[in-house]
Amino acid sequence: MEYDLDLLVIGAGVAGLATGREVALSGRCVGILEKNRRYGLETSSRNSEVMHSGIHYPPGSLKALLCVEGNRLLYDYCADSGVLHRKTGKITLAVTPEEEKRLWLLYKTGLANGVKDIKLLGAERVKKMVPCVECRSGLFTGSTGILSAHGLMDSLYGDFLESGGIAGFGEEVTGIEKAGRGYRVATAAGRHYTSRVVINCAGLFSDRISGMISMATVRTYWAKGDYFGLGRTFGINMPVYPVPGRDYLGIHLTPDVGGGLKAGPDIEYVEKSDHPYPGENRGTSYSVDERKRERFFREVRRYLPSIREEDLSPAMFGIRSRLQGPGDGPRDFLISAPAPGFINLEGIDSPGLTSCLAIGKYARNIFDVIIREKR
Ligand SMILES: Cc1cc2nc3c(=O)[nH]c(=O)nc-3n(C[C@H](O)[C@H](O)[C@H](O)COP(=O)(O)OP(=O)(O)OC[C@H]3O[C@@H](n4cnc5c(N)ncnc54)[C@H](O)[C@@H]3O)c2cc1C
Repeated sequence: MEYDLDLLVIGAGVAGLATGREVALSGRCVGILEKNRRYGLETSSRNSEVMHSGIHYPPGSLKALLCVEGNRLLYDYCADSGVLHRKTGKITLAVTPEEEKRLWLLYKTGLANGVKDIKLLGAERVKKMVPCVECRSGLFTGSTGILSAHGLMDSLYGDFLESGGIAGFGEEVTGIEKAGRGYRVATAAGRHYTSRVVINCAGLFSDRISGMISMATVRTYWAKGDYFGLGRTFGINMPVYPVPGRDYLGIHLTPDVGGGLKAGPDIEYVEKSDHPYPGENRGTSYSVDERKRERFFREVRRYLPSIREEDLSPAMFGIRSRLQGPGDGPRDFLISAPAPGFINLEGIDSPGLTSCLAIGKYARNIFDVIIREKR
């Protein structure tokens, strides 16, 4: 059987674009199918746009490895490609003695993960860096930064096209069947594509796609995070985080490359829906819940006493695709091959943006092994 493609990528968020680019650069014939009218309209453009250092993930986990490697790759890539970014550093603040213990653990995790430029600082040193905050002590990570997620995706897509990649937009994948030693993929528009290898980078819908080829699918959850914009920046020029809780990083403050400052995200598990985000000619089931303003205010005031409730206005939301449900412990990225020639990316929540180039390389290695075996 003849295949049109060596690799078919389902989904054009950062994971799909980075993977498609990586394999296309090696001279392979790669296609990307995306259900929306363009790339990057879902979670990849609705996040904090932070390039994480890698202090939050258990040593040896894929999240730790791909975040630390991805952080390094992303700085080089942004500098070479002119993607708007800034190496700001980040401060994590302990406000209580109990939080100081957890800050120490975070420090040790960072060291174990090979995070460079990481320092525990007393309150005075913190105040010199970010005068408006109050804390008992802080953890500084110099490799944290911010970037334009849109700029990154524009650049990845440009590279993909220049390497001969082909993209189909408005192409929702609705069926996948085995065809010889590869796959035949059907879309809602009635078209079919054949490919030797398929990779599922469908973000919030990754379980739907994996369900098309395997009965044994992994359960995924949707965890929505709201953001409130701040009307003033308080002179904050680097991400400011509280010590993270068990389930999420806590309501933090992040400057963006455009000069704004936002607070969030929080976490709220929500029902799955066909339309997670607002788009052309259709609505969504979700919006930022204004009633959360008071809770955001209380959480941020713990470390930023000069904030007023009226500084906060509803801004945007993003939805994490996660393997853990409410109350479960943290889970790793899951990159697996549930059927021959089929690669699944599941649970690509944070730090998926930071890790995208490393995810692309990791997926390409699996692709190379599959192609070698198929010869
Ligand atoms: C609130 C929030 C804050 C975050 N902050 C950060 C951060 O600061 N730093 C960081 O590193 N990470 C962060 N993340 C995580 C990061 O945003 C994600 O890990 C990353 O964007 C996931 O990319 P993706 O390509 O897997 O998914 P997506 O961007 O969701 O892309 C998947 C694509 O697949 C398409 N698709 C789905 N089904 C089909 C189908 N049947 N056919 C064709 N196409 C389909 C979708 O339309 C979509 O475009 C955050 C996430 C959230 C929600």
